[in-house]
Amino acid sequence: MPALRRRLTRVIRHMPLGEDELVQLLKLDPVAVVRGLRATSAKVFPQTDEQPTIPGIVRSLGPTLTLRLFRQPSAAIENCDELQELWHHAIATAHAASQLATNTGLVDPEIAYLLGLVHDLPEWLTRLEHKASNSSSATLQPIDWIVNWQLPAPFVSQILAIDMRDRAGASDHPPDTAGLIRTAELLAELAGYNHPNQNTNDASLDPTILIDAAQLAVSRKLKRSVNAALRSFGFDPDITEAEIAADEEAVVPQSHEDHPDKIIASILNRTRSESYSGIVTAVTAAAVRYGNYDRAFYAKWHRNSSTLMLRSKADSPSRSMRLTSVPVTNQEAAALNQAIETGTPISLPTEDGSSEGLLGTLSTDELLAIPFNTDFATPAFLLLDRSLTLAPIQAKKDMTLATMLGMTGTLLIENLLLRRRGQRAQKFASTDPLTRLFNRRMGMHTLEQSIARTNRNGTPLTVLMCDLDHFKRLNDTLGHVRGDAALRSTADVLRHSVRKSDTVCRYGGEEFLVVLPDTTPDEATVLAARMFTSVQARGETLGLPITISIGLTCCRPDDTLETILMRADRALYASKGHGRNRFSADVEGDEVAETVTAGPAITPDEPDKPGLTPPEAS
Ligand code: GH3
Ligand code: MG
Ligand code: MG
Repeated sequence: MPALRRRLTRVIRHMPLGEDELVQLLKLDPVAVVRGLRATSAKVFPQTDEQPTIPGIVRSLGPTLTLRLFRQPSAAIENCDELQELWHHAIATAHAASQLATNTGLVDPEIAYLLGLVHDLPEWLTRLEHKASNSSSATLQPIDWIVNWQLPAPFVSQILAIDMRDRAGASDHPPDTAGLIRTAELLAELAGYNHPNQNTNDASLDPTILIDAAQLAVSRKLKRSVNAALRSFGFDPDITEAEIAADEEAVVPQSHEDHPDKIIASILNRTRSESYSGIVTAVTAAAVRYGNYDRAFYAKWHRNSSTLMLRSKADSPSRSMRLTSVPVTNQEAAALNQAIETGTPISLPTEDGSSEGLLGTLSTDELLAIPFNTDFATPAFLLLDRSLTLAPIQAKKDMTLATMLGMTGTLLIENLLLRRRGQRAQKFASTDPLTRLFNRRMGMHTLEQSIARTNRNGTPLTVLMCDLDHFKRLNDTLGHVRGDAALRSTADVLRHSVRKSDTVCRYGGEEFLVVLPDTTPDEATVLAARMFTSVQARGETLGLPITISIGLTCCRPDDTLETILMRADRALYASKGHGRNRFSADVEGDEVAETVTAGPAITPDEPDKPGLTPPEAS
């Protein structure tokens, strides 16, 4: 096996692997296929009843994760001729099965190929388990593996059917998939790809097995196609061990000892987005990159219900999650709570292959959980696993990185929240809560700066003072709640009438100041006319009698805050005096120069009261 693995590693190093090549390569690796099956059928992802196929696995996982399936599992597997034989036998059976499926139309050739490739799954698992876990005392039975790994149900029943089908009795049964795989196996053996447990002669000489001409032809072609498949991926026997060794030496070993400052710098570089999700993404990316994890999930921890809410994942982007709310087992909950309390990452091992809880749902044997925001009401976890490469989580190396990631992430989030709090406080101090406009203080500040700029650059500056007409009466007749609504909609109209560079503020109770930099009085006149007509129109749609009067003035040399406001006020009072719902301009000299009217002022219930005279035409 290591010899084959080394050849495989060499292929991955040298060949550009697109989706098609990955499918072809996966078709040569039964163990990677089983890991892929497990990864695609985890409960957290959408489930299907379809029989799995190898192209389906690659499509579902995407290229990056598929590539990880080929990584050598951590436990070194001793070189083993039997495994090598079993491996060739599997590939040959798969080729034969796919060919038989094409010829008979009994089943999709891709389904037949996958079943043929892993038909000895129970046996593979016994051998791999036996080789890999000399240290582990409790050895799982193959059936436990199948159950623990939660492979898709239609697949498991097929494999068990094949396993139970008597090899010799293949021809006694009506044709079905299990029989097809058994026949394919015999063809593989005819072509010389023997099952290590099977004496070659047993099978071919067994008189009860009927092999017809078509099957013989298939078996002859088989050797050629299996060889071609292997050679096309560099499993070419002409490539010598020496060449492979030389190639391995040429590869500069990657340094896995990345310096912490480099890792932190990489997180900070990616965290310019100034958002919570940006931080989570950056920390997750760093974890996957520097910790070599297969999958990463971000989840909020709801202690009271012992539920993890999965929020995002750094997994194949094409896969959506089926479950977001994952109940955890009592044992997992205790571990997660402890991680929150101590603020340190924990490694969660599976509880005897339980399909329940977090690990069962994610279909992984081990999970690293890094706590974030431990003093929040709803803390969060970054969950990392190596369920595809099967590399174990190491107490020292993984925990060091995890602790650092947790601390960096938490600090960044705390920092973000502090900054946001500061921004909110600043906004609160400068905004009027009712209308969400700038308050008077901010308005004055803006006006002062605008005056200074005009004095410096000679650019025009115009201001409008707006005041609701007969607002006291509106309050008195319709109530303060509707009065407030009138203020809000007036603010809304004013805000939407101006450009981004302009400023509208709530100057007083029902008075608004509009500062218009780089605006001439002529331009402001057009704007003011639009404002008072729009306010009235909005009032009509709301069934509220709202009109405003406007005073307009522009900045003159030596103007101060006081002088310009005084003139704007005077212009406003001119509008009021002329009957309201209009604007007046005080732009030249001390005389109010112009008065423009929109239409009849609203005279809701007291038409003959002073101040409610019908407007004059201008
Ligand atoms: P004029 O047309 O001359 O401006 O008459 P007016 O009634 O609008 O003017 P006055 O200054 O007499 O009344 C302003 C009213 O605005 C008095 C006050 O109760 C009301 N007001 C001020 N702030 C608010 C507020 O936040 N909400 C409500 N509903 N009313 C407010
Ligand atoms: Mg008023
Ligand atoms: Mg007023």
